[in-house]
Amino acid sequence: MALHNYATTAVAEGHTMKAAVVTAFGSPLEIQERDIPRPAAGQVLVKMETCGLCHTDIHAAGGDWPVKPALPIVPGHEGIGIIEELGAGVTNRVVGERVAIAWLGSACGDCRYCVDGRETLCETQQNSGYSIDGAFAEYAVASAKYVVPVPEGVSSLDAAPLSCAGVTTYKALKIASISPTENVGVFGIGGLGHLAVQYAHILGGTVIAIDIEATKLALATELGADFVVNAATSDPVAEIEKLGGLDVAIVLATSPRVFEQAFAALRRGGRLVCVALPAESTMNISIFETVLKGISIIGSIVGTREDLAEVFAMHAAGKTRVVAEARDLDQVNTAIAEVLSGQTPARLVFDFGAAAIPAV
Ligand code: NAD
Ligand code: ZN
Ligand code: ZN
Repeated sequence: MALHNYATTAVAEGHTMKAAVVTAFGSPLEIQERDIPRPAAGQVLVKMETCGLCHTDIHAAGGDWPVKPALPIVPGHEGIGIIEELGAGVTNRVVGERVAIAWLGSACGDCRYCVDGRETLCETQQNSGYSIDGAFAEYAVASAKYVVPVPEGVSSLDAAPLSCAGVTTYKALKIASISPTENVGVFGIGGLGHLAVQYAHILGGTVIAIDIEATKLALATELGADFVVNAATSDPVAEIEKLGGLDVAIVLATSPRVFEQAFAALRRGGRLVCVALPAESTMNISIFETVLKGISIIGSIVGTREDLAEVFAMHAAGKTRVVAEARDLDQVNTAIAEVLSGQTPARLVFDFGAAAIPAV
């Protein structure tokens, strides 16, 4: 268990913290000074070290999806920090432990999905940074049962993107059941995609990376992609067909057109794994083609606590590389603009000062 030599005194009542808050959909986030939250029974108070900026946070701030968060909301579900206080009745975690606050903030623990290993489908789950305040703040409270310990050997800068981008793509590729002779297309080499390329490679697929930015494609090659396709300068379906077509397509780009391209690039028996959640949420897919080609269309939502533990273990074993740059929380709106411009390294991570990350 990773214990840090942190003061174990509870945070005094009335102390404040900095938080980035969505107060209106489509407006810049506000940096607010708020009271440090108190851990309720079953919760822990976490002093944040880092939190990644996932494109989901941008959808949350935009009110992009049919189910919207109640405002105001503090986004952030790639939060890494140190437990500073335990709420009543918490026995499974200790003060000083480093943990991840991921999208699955809590689930009921009793329904068929929770019991059979599909807790991310629980109908009464809470989602960090969406239905409950998340980790774009110096402190956050979280369910003690659903935070995931971060092992030694994984830095807080790396642990942040692994907590959503990593676990989500690892799970999507697990669900796709890749065999070593198969072609795997990864559409969108951003935060999620740069890790998806690596997991697809580890699982034995021939990896074809597709993006519209040459820099992202160069990164994909560095991270193990066998082929790259620039969808801005060529017809990606035609280019992928030249490579034999895809057995598995993982879609991580936020446009329904990309889902349609991915579908069109599938071979017979192919699997379309839907992961991105574009604001425009309808895709045009031929039923005839789906049936005749025996295609499976699969939705995949984040991953379980166990999936995340596996992702951390693989990273601690040196099997994956996180490409991330630190930003200050005050820069949250510029960071969002950077991600939308496509001109960022794979992931931006807010650094709360304790993690000693070299800022760029
Ligand atoms: P990102 O912005 O970091 O990456 C998106 C990438 O797509 C960028 O590299 C961009 O250049 C590329 N792209 C844009 N247009 C493209 C096109 N036409 N063809 C190919 N590539 C294109 O985003 P992210 O944080 O990786 O998140 C991606 C999506 O996944 C978001 O919609 C997010 O909400 C969703 N998401 C889903 C889950 C889940 O559990 N299903 C979890 C996390 C994120
Ligand atoms: Zn449940
Ligand atoms: Zn996410």
